[in-house]
Amino acid sequence: MVKFIFITGGVLSSVGKGIMTSSIGKMLQIRGYSVSALKIDPYVNVDAGTMNPYIHGEVFVTEDGGETDLDLGHYERFLDINLTKISTLSTGQVYASVIGKERKGDYLGQCVQIIPHITDEIKNRIRSAAKTAGTDVLLTELGGTVGDIEGLPFLEAVRQFRLEEGYENTLFVHVALVPILGSTHEQKSKPCQHSIQEMRRIGIQPDIIVARCRDPLEPEVKRKISLFGSVPYGAVFTSHDVEHIYQLPIKLDEQGMGEYVTKRLGLDGKVANWSAWSAIVDSFVAPTKTVKIAMCGKYTKLADSYVSIMEALRHAAAKVGVQVSIDWIETTRFEENPSDVDLLGNYHGIIVLPGFGARGTEGKISAIRYARTHKKPFLGICFGFQLATIEYARNVLGLEGANSTEVNPNTPHPLIDLLPEQRSLGIMGGTMRLGSYKILLKEGTTMSKLYGASEIFERHRHRYEVNPEYWQRLLDGGLVFSGWSTDHRRVEFFELPSHPYFVGTQSHPEFKSRPGKPSPPYFGFVAASAELA
Ligand code: GLN
Repeated sequence: MVKFIFITGGVLSSVGKGIMTSSIGKMLQIRGYSVSALKIDPYVNVDAGTMNPYIHGEVFVTEDGGETDLDLGHYERFLDINLTKISTLSTGQVYASVIGKERKGDYLGQCVQIIPHITDEIKNRIRSAAKTAGTDVLLTELGGTVGDIEGLPFLEAVRQFRLEEGYENTLFVHVALVPILGSTHEQKSKPCQHSIQEMRRIGIQPDIIVARCRDPLEPEVKRKISLFGSVPYGAVFTSHDVEHIYQLPIKLDEQGMGEYVTKRLGLDGKVANWSAWSAIVDSFVAPTKTVKIAMCGKYTKLADSYVSIMEALRHAAAKVGVQVSIDWIETTRFEENPSDVDLLGNYHGIIVLPGFGARGTEGKISAIRYARTHKKPFLGICFGFQLATIEYARNVLGLEGANSTEVNPNTPHPLIDLLPEQRSLGIMGGTMRLGSYKILLKEGTTMSKLYGASEIFERHRHRYEVNPEYWQRLLDGGLVFSGWSTDHRRVEFFELPSHPYFVGTQSHPEFKSRPGKPSPPYFGFVAASAELA
């Protein structure tokens, strides 16, 4: 019998539901249960690929090429599992499927309604996610905040879910903010009480309440939440600030949450073994030396836009035995004030981030030039890789005006051009080169040494690539193509042997980085940067 845990959030968004979902999963996993997770995203977009990165944050790419919510990245990293497209569910997907069935005639003679047709579709998808994963426990996180209009059909579906699957197989966890007032330092439980009331109005009585609060809850505040929330005192937990997110499952387990959840679901009897996870967490907290990294791109105002890259750097740093401090740099700044690029001298390593469109690209190219000519460790991810070949073409090979046709369709030197199969595409959603592809690494290169393998898999998300017409000139100029697609039609990695660490990749290795198992190109980058710290 599969057990289903639903995680909802109250008071405001970004209350930490994703980390909470991952942490509950971890508490079960270290007791020997298999877990998987599903994120419900009430947006009408079919997937995250077409959403606004400023508002929604990073698009996390799964092995099978799903363009998903960044919380899937948290689930994969905490639980060390690979998820698929089935682990994400949006309003757009639910409606597309129901409308598709209606047109086919599956509901002939019926009036199609939110209840039962939309809610049935939602419940079926949750069940099929559990079945596909073949798991003991499925965690389902409901995006947004309780009370949002777009979330209502999903809450109604999970309310029905309990009736169908039974009390002993379902658990509702509600996470809500408990703010601390600056003037009196008082922990205020009222907003949390209100969001629980909103849950009950919808017909769901939470089983567990987690207060998101800077500090551990005071006993009297906890008692109040228990009384007004109608849950036992022992079912109120605090997700308080921790030095590092990976500490949270341990902190919650210390409060008795793992035991409470397993008992309530009839899963008790297995012992929690934290030793492996604790060793990983300790490696994050212990180092004292700090490596300063400049993250150059756009959308740098919202750190969530690049959360997997940030985490990959942290995983790498823990393994190298250093801390990373990350500064976000809007590259438009180097276009407005070219001398600002010298600021990069303050950093031990430079990353040029993935991206789309023209804005900020000249600034990114200036940052790459700085890294190359000042021998600063450099890692170019996807767009950063493409722009690095452009920088090389312009400034080393003398190909003036070299560019990507994405940035300048009339460039005299289209170093980066559309993938041939993209030319006739009219549909933008879900049509990039997406997901995991095999990469062959060239023997003797830094990459093959870092990976310790000649064949690897990395995930992708791009429409453009290095134009084969320019390969020979780049190679003659001294660039080494260290990774190729299996048909040798696509450049996947380059490196510059005359430089301490100048690496670019068309792929997104950050999506596969895990605590304790950092992504090799990130590890190499942080190790090289640490040499300068
Ligand atoms: N815009 C580039 C492309 O589509 C790079 C994409 C990215 O950085 N993810 O190929």
